Amino acid sequence: MQELSFSPSQQGGLAEEIEDEPPSCSASFISTLSQTPGFKLFERPFIHITPPAVSPKCKSRSLSETRMFRRRFFPAASDKEWNDWQWQIAHRIRTYEQLNRILEMSSDEQEATEKNRSKLPLGITPYYMSLLNTVDPNQPLRRTVVPTIHELVKTKGEADDPLGEEGQSPIPGLVHRYPDRALLLVLDFCSTYCRYCTRSRMVGHGAILPSKSRLEKAIDYIRHTPAIRDVLLSGGDPLTLGDEKLEWLLKSLREIPHVEIIRIGTKIPAVLPQRITKKLVRMIRKYHPVWMSLHFTHPDECTPESYKACTMLSDGGIPLGSQTVLLKGINDNVQTMTELMHRLMKMRVRPYYLYQCDPISGSAHFRTSVEKGLEIIRGLRGFTSGYAVPTYVIDAPGGGGKVPLMPEYVAERGMDNLILKNYENRLFSYPDPIMPKCLI
Ligand code: SF4
Repeated sequence: MQELSFSPSQQGGLAEEIEDEPPSCSASFISTLSQTPGFKLFERPFIHITPPAVSPKCKSRSLSETRMFRRRFFPAASDKEWNDWQWQIAHRIRTYEQLNRILEMSSDEQEATEKNRSKLPLGITPYYMSLLNTVDPNQPLRRTVVPTIHELVKTKGEADDPLGEEGQSPIPGLVHRYPDRALLLVLDFCSTYCRYCTRSRMVGHGAILPSKSRLEKAIDYIRHTPAIRDVLLSGGDPLTLGDEKLEWLLKSLREIPHVEIIRIGTKIPAVLPQRITKKLVRMIRKYHPVWMSLHFTHPDECTPESYKACTMLSDGGIPLGSQTVLLKGINDNVQTMTELMHRLMKMRVRPYYLYQCDPISGSAHFRTSVEKGLEIIRGLRGFTSGYAVPTYVIDAPGGGGKVPLMPEYVAERGMDNLILKNYENRLFSYPDPIMPKCLI
């Protein structure tokens, strides 16, 4: 197994990025956009990238913050226990009293947790808790998992099921929205609950259980629907299932001839990387092609432990993509997003989707404008490797599916050409005559 590595002494500058060049370029430079009346000049702010927290050359197994946290709050835990995913789940922080022992709580946090008023339960693994700042309620990771009173306020346009999943479920827990894909909600349990969860209406409520009879019905539906070639396992977090049950599920799906690929959506490498064991990887690889969509939100989640988990998954031949939700005050700036994408790339995770936050009930404090999302994409495209630029999407409310959003790169449509705007706002002409209708 590849040695995990991290050390502050290795935190030099980032390796120089080599830009991807198109194979050929016939476009010709015309002028800069800034000189063109009517166009707003976009300038990418100067950014300083904090060096990545992981590097392939050092040997420490966790951040000093994690080691200190463990000594202070779980002094009796042995290495074996701390690194055991079931121990982590059994020792989750689940009550106000437990939180209050660890964090200096703000009044907003206190009010939301003291009386347990939120629909979404509280749950944080000790490992993830070790990454939280104990005194600053505005620390990005802390905001994603510690409830505040803001999530109790429902604003206009918000809904409990904004994506209309309930209306597209032919079988309880199975969403069939796109013709060739099915989403199977395996269970509603997560090791750590994200306060902005799209499925906060159901996760952690114990209503979707991974019972064999329910899952068999869903498998049966997939078996009798030949159009389905891609099954996404989600929830809740499917990797919180035990190996045996997960294997039964993967095996049953793999036996269906028209199921070409199986995908697993999970936040485990970020919140419970101890779950990624050699045994789990050995089991999953028997059912290839299995892909994984990993949920990462902030560069601080890319620790030595998550680096190791992603390395094991990649070495097991599992292609890894990331899904990130755009969150106000947490990752909604070019610098943080660039840093996250760079760290993911170093962990062999391909940035896949950047989601506009869904308008779930009580999410106003997390949502940021679409213009901000476009600004972030403009700040990535051309300024870093193309592989590091995710597709920015809005999941259309009501069940319309993912709609991609792109900054405008076509400045003008001429009769004979397109005027293209590059990442530096320079204009180029590409020959593309409009054909007369009679010739089409
Ligand atoms: S891990 Fe996923 S399903 Fe679980 S709470 Fe977070 S966003 Fe929701």
